[in-house]
Amino acid sequence: MASRSDAQIISAPHAMRAWSDNVHRAGGRIAFVPTMGYLHEGHVSLVRAAQARASHVVVSIFVNPTQFGPNEDLSRYPRDLPRDLAHINSVGADAVFTPTPQDIYPPGFDTYVVPSTLSTGLCGASRPDHFRGVCTVVAVLFRMTACDVALFGEKDFQQLQIIKRMTRDLWLDVEVVGLPIVREADGLAKSSRNVYLSAQERQDALVLSRALARVRARFDAGERHATALVQEAERLIGAVPSARIDYISIVDAANLQPVDTLTEPAVCALAVFIGKTRLIDNCLLG
Ligand code: AMP
Repeated sequence: MASRSDAQIISAPHAMRAWSDNVHRAGGRIAFVPTMGYLHEGHVSLVRAAQARASHVVVSIFVNPTQFGPNEDLSRYPRDLPRDLAHINSVGADAVFTPTPQDIYPPGFDTYVVPSTLSTGLCGASRPDHFRGVCTVVAVLFRMTACDVALFGEKDFQQLQIIKRMTRDLWLDVEVVGLPIVREADGLAKSSRNVYLSAQERQDALVLSRALARVRARFDAGERHATALVQEAERLIGAVPSARIDYISIVDAANLQPVDTLTEPAVCALAVFIGKTRLIDNCLLG
């Protein structure tokens, strides 16, 4: 089990790797939770799951510049390390890895991991190079932490599938585990970006989970045509003035390709701007 004393803060990649090598020499197993900080209950659920899967838990906090587009929120992404450490220590982890951008991308850094077909649709269509940044940083962090298992949220469903595939394709030798979406009591998926929302936008944002609940209900009632399900979600979200749909798609849960008629397990995934804030959510169908 993870120690209940405060986690050790490690910033330098070589120190991180030395720590992990020591754990392995002593016969330990390392579970890793990569995050961009500004932690919430979704992240905490990953840390708890990590505790159950290894002798040692490492949480990283790194706002990864290469996964942000030029007009996205890199500079204003919420950051609060003392708050994050309090969160982590209230749950329990052994190490918190806090590298700088220069640590991850030192001068001369020139190698990127580029996913292929899994990244063409959904968020990959509206955020070019996003998953290139995600895959690159995750591959680097996997090697720096030498983790045995890594935990990711199903909230970022496409990301989870891409990382599973990358890990398999590149023989990274890490077990990748996905965990369910953690929501606020009223249904809004927890997200560090929820802090951007005004009180009115916070109310408006409920339309994402409501639309998904409606899609799920119609699926459960027997509707199998993706277009009908998507139109239902579009109608609900379109009625909220502050909402602008980036995409609403129903894709095969395994290969993320669009489906017309649902026969295999599928995912309804959506990205919606509420005001200036882009939120994502999804639900499994079948
Ligand atoms: P982030 O800090 O947003 O990059 O997220 C770090 C990890 O936490 C990713 O694996 C996310 O999928 C996961 N995560 C974020 N929000 C949630 C949530 N509401 N429920 C479960 N996992 C989440």
